[in-house]
Amino acid sequence: MTDFIISGPELADSSKRDLFVVGGRLVDERPHGAETIDADGLIALPGLVDLHTHLREPGREDAETVESGSMAAARGGFTCVHAMANTQPVTDTAEKADYIADLGAAAGYVQVVPIGAITRGLAGTELAELGLMHQSRAGVRVFSDDGMCVMDSALMRRAFEWVRPFDGVLAQHAQDAGLAGPGACCHEGELSGRLGLPGWPSVAESVIIARDAQLAEATGSRLHVCHVSTAEGVDVLRWAKARGINITAEATPHHLYLTTSELTGYDTVYKVNPPLRTDEHVEAIRAGLADKTIDVVGTDHAPHAPQDKDHAFAEAKPGMLGLEQALSVVMETMVHTGRLDWAGVADRMSAAPARIARTSGQGRPLNVGELANLVLVDPSRRAAVDRGASASLSRNNPYHGRDLPDPVELTMWQGRITHRR
Ligand SMILES: [Zn+2]
Repeated sequence: MTDFIISGPELADSSKRDLFVVGGRLVDERPHGAETIDADGLIALPGLVDLHTHLREPGREDAETVESGSMAAARGGFTCVHAMANTQPVTDTAEKADYIADLGAAAGYVQVVPIGAITRGLAGTELAELGLMHQSRAGVRVFSDDGMCVMDSALMRRAFEWVRPFDGVLAQHAQDAGLAGPGACCHEGELSGRLGLPGWPSVAESVIIARDAQLAEATGSRLHVCHVSTAEGVDVLRWAKARGINITAEATPHHLYLTTSELTGYDTVYKVNPPLRTDEHVEAIRAGLADKTIDVVGTDHAPHAPQDKDHAFAEAKPGMLGLEQALSVVMETMVHTGRLDWAGVADRMSAAPARIARTSGQGRPLNVGELANLVLVDPSRRAAVDRGASASLSRNNPYHGRDLPDPVELTMWQGRITHRR
């Protein structure tokens, strides 16, 4: 195993020092015969951790595989991704969870942590084997029916009760099925009427967050809210946190950056669930992420094959790529606007997600003794995004052609270089 001297980087806390990597860990003594990586002018951050990744394997290996998605993650500066359960078949048993973790280990680019389904087959009617998934080798601790909202309140309460003894967390896709049904695809407002697209009202998100927050409080269990997209959702989170409820939440890069006005051309690359919102909602999400009402950035990386996107807007599948440009978008919307410093980025994209999922060895400050999970960032480089250059098997990249920060120089996972520009 190669040892490394990472020479001259600035760390998230603005201090500047060389980093020494021996046997996959950070050590305090400069190693002999090590490879030197020149990091002068670069920022060294802990490896990024994504709580919300769709890897599509098993079932849709034409859109993404664990290997291709892992490679895209490494290119984006990630050392750990949590793989959503809505594959075909759904990850709803211990065996299936272990299978995903094994595929991730075989790919070898990032730590792949399976998320288990809350309900069997994501059908929303009976609980999946939550306890057995936790006891599996994969040690599942995050459960989600993402893509679907668990609408049955009694079932949701029982799921909270099941996961509480082992400190599990339920990650809810907050979408009231009555207020925003399966066809809803455009933020409900003036534009949805003008475009003739079924509306997805913001309250369809916030009422579920409120319900689940109260269930989490009543059961003493933990709730994580996926992809918060509305000002009303942020308001409810702020109320729940002030009350001391055990609740965390994530924002996606696209909800920090893109608005519903992208939909005027009916380009299905901008179809995503929950939908892009208006400027005032984007502002609320940015403010929430800045003041920690929203704890983390989760990519909701959602690859789709062309045959699932090349349809009329209402029929196309929702979802967009996110892993490779997540840090770019966070820099553009949060760092360059003065709302987050590098310590804030390290918190929202590494420390906080690792803490929520209790992922050991990830999200740690770059101190002696820790695993060498890190990303070297060039704070000033920019480039036009080229969807063709992606490691993902899919091309539904909403940032294609846009001028954005292009920061990731090198990613290291457990002391191995998994990406280098
Ligand atoms: Zn979702």
